[in-house]
Order: sequence, then C-alpha cells, then structure tokens
Amino acid sequence: MPRIYLLDVTNRDGVQTARIGLAKLQKTILNVLLDQFGVFQSEAGFPFTRHEVNYLNGNIELVERGVIKRMRVAGWCRALVKDVEAAFKMTRVRHFNISMSTSDQMIINKFQGKLDRASVITEMTEALDAAHDLGAETVGVNAEDASRTDLKYLIEFALAAKEHGADRFRYCDTLGYDSPPRIYERVSALAKQVGLPIEPHCHNDLGMVNANSVMCAKAAVDNGLDAYINATTNGIGERAGNADLLSCCLALKHAGGLAEHNLLDPAIDLTQAWRLAKYMEHAIGVPIPINQPGVGGNAFAHESGIHADGALKDRRNYELYDSEELGRPDFTPMPTGRIITTGEYGGIKGFQKVIHDLGIELNAGDDPHHLLEVIQYAALHTQKPLHEEEIRFVCAHPDVAEQVMTVTPGAREGVAA
Ligand SMILES: [Zn+2]
Repeated sequence: MPRIYLLDVTNRDGVQTARIGLAKLQKTILNVLLDQFGVFQSEAGFPFTRHEVNYLNGNIELVERGVIKRMRVAGWCRALVKDVEAAFKMTRVRHFNISMSTSDQMIINKFQGKLDRASVITEMTEALDAAHDLGAETVGVNAEDASRTDLKYLIEFALAAKEHGADRFRYCDTLGYDSPPRIYERVSALAKQVGLPIEPHCHNDLGMVNANSVMCAKAAVDNGLDAYINATTNGIGERAGNADLLSCCLALKHAGGLAEHNLLDPAIDLTQAWRLAKYMEHAIGVPIPINQPGVGGNAFAHESGIHADGALKDRRNYELYDSEELGRPDFTPMPTGRIITTGEYGGIKGFQKVIHDLGIELNAGDDPHHLLEVIQYAALHTQKPLHEEEIRFVCAHPDVAEQVMTVTPGAREGVAA
C-alpha cells in the first residue's frame, strides 16, 4: 500500500532563508531529533560546499554508529556534473536530490539563452548519470518551478529522469503558485504517465502550503505511488516559508477525508513534536507563532465562555487532538533562583554541576576537562547559551561535535576522506 513519508529540508532549504541560520552543531542535533520524530530523509545540506563537508561526514558517522537510526542523510546539488563530482570528492553523502529549473519563465529569464528546453533535459540526465556512475544509492530529480511549467514538457522531463534511473520526482511549487485542486490534477497526470514516486515541495506565498503539499501527496498515492512530502521544522523557509512538518503530519492523521486512509508513515512519532519544535525555536532564535498548529502557545488555550465551558466538559468539544499526543507537557519548570550554567568561559566545577543536574553520565574513559573544552567551543560556535540537547550531544559524541564544528578549509583535508 502506498504511503506518505516526510522528507525534511530544514537543513537545506530552511537555512537558505534570509536572516535565518543554523550552526553546524545545531544542524547536527536537528538531524538527530528529526530521526527520532520519524522523518524518512533529511536533506542535510550542500555536499559541494566546503564549509558543509565536515558537518555532512560527521552526520554520516552518526548514521554508521546507529545514533541516527533510520533516517537517510542526503545532499542537494544543482543538476550539474561538476556539483555531483565535487560532492563525491568531498563527502561520503550517497543520497541526493539534483535540481534543475523547468519553467519557460526560468529557462528564458534565468538561463538567458544558455539553455533551452532540450538542453535542460540533457544537463539533468548527464548529472543523474554522473551520480549513478560515482556510486549514488538514491537520486531524486527536482523540477524547480514545476507548478509554472508546461505540463506536457514537465512529463517529458520526468520521463527522461525515470529512464536514467531517478528514484523520485520532486514537484516544486517554488513560488507557492499552486492551489489544492490544481496540484492534485497536475500531479495525478504526472503520476499516471511517469510512475515515479513524488516529492511535493511547496512554498507558502499564498498561504496554502500545507494543503497543497497534502493534496500533491494524495494524488501520488491515489495513483499507486509513494509520496515524500518536503517540509521544514516549524515551517520556516524562503519568503513565507515551506510546508510545516508537524502540520502535514497532523493533517494526514486527523483531517476529515485523509485520516481514514491511514496514509502517514507509521514511523512518525508525534510525541517528539514538542521537543523538536522547541529546539528549533531555540536554534534559529525565532519564536514559534502563538497560533502555530500543535506547538503554538494558544494551540490548546481556551478563554471565551462558551469554549472554556465546552472544553472543560469534554476536550473533544474544542480540541481535535490532545496536547499529550505531541509530547507537550502541561508545565515547564523554570528556575528563578541561583542557577549554574556552562559555556564559552565556563570552568570544570560549573560544568560538572550542570551535567550532574541533567543526569548525564559520561562515557567510560572520557576526560571531563576535554569535554569542557568541547563545550566551550560549542558555545563559541553557536554564540548563544547552550541548550540541554547540545550539552547532552557533546557529552555523548564529543568527537563528532569537534568534527562538525571544524569549518576552516585547511583543517578539512585530514577529516573528510
Ligand atoms: Zn524550496
């Protein structure tokens, strides 16, 4: 039975967002939390970009150690042979998405005569062949601006990708132009005529991103194909954002017309949702909107007379699902008296107190003085107070923390192999 999986693109598309960034250690911890949430694949970064190399290789090390248990760590490249070759030369990434613009708008006004419809297909198939020749395990092919692409040509492009062994086809609604009925219709035609699993990749410029993503995925499964919804944590993304990871899962699990089909990947563990959203909020420094589905401050708040009365009598009067389902606690403890923290200028006694209070047990043979040094660098690296998830990660995997925080090109050579 076809299913709908989640493919998180926070660490690639999300970090492209203006005025939003994540340090490599934060990207790494996000990957660990995404795996625990049940995401199928993380589009973890740019494997042809030198400052991503140690981070990507460090995260593949986490896969090999079983810290990241199921999730694939993937890379994004332009559909250019030189990007693909650089990715293989510099990193151990073996799952890819390669991207090419397909709309006439972009072919004419972005490539400006350098490429036409025919050569767009040739460039894409050459990059796809190169990825396979070099040993890629899976490759998805992205059609940038697919929603504004002539459908006949888009099908031709996707068929060429299939012929050259693509594993998935990414339908990009790059500008958030589509609407739910239109995306369903177009992706149904694509699914019927091409037969490749579909990745809905939608943006929120008209406020329809989650509905479009879900309807795009529904078109795939209604035609017997798996779908891999591209989403970001807390819905961040370029301009008005990408699909929100949690909202899409909630829609598939609880929405009328969807819930009864049981389409959501059973590996999704919604009890991790709160932890993931709150870490993301800390890492990017952007508050979760008060009205965010599931994790917003007001998602389970009732004040007006009729609503409060109804919710108190039976929560189902005014709540579709439970806060507990998302691992959301009723209260969070907030110390108000003396507090010991650790960070860039911390010392050994303070560090030992912090890890004792967190219940962290060090690995046998770990030198606390060395761990403190890695902790100092972690705070230096993120330039903000360390989050509990960060302290726990550094204590559990100090060598990987050191690796991902090493971003100078000169220091790269010894580690990247
Ligand atoms: Zn995008």
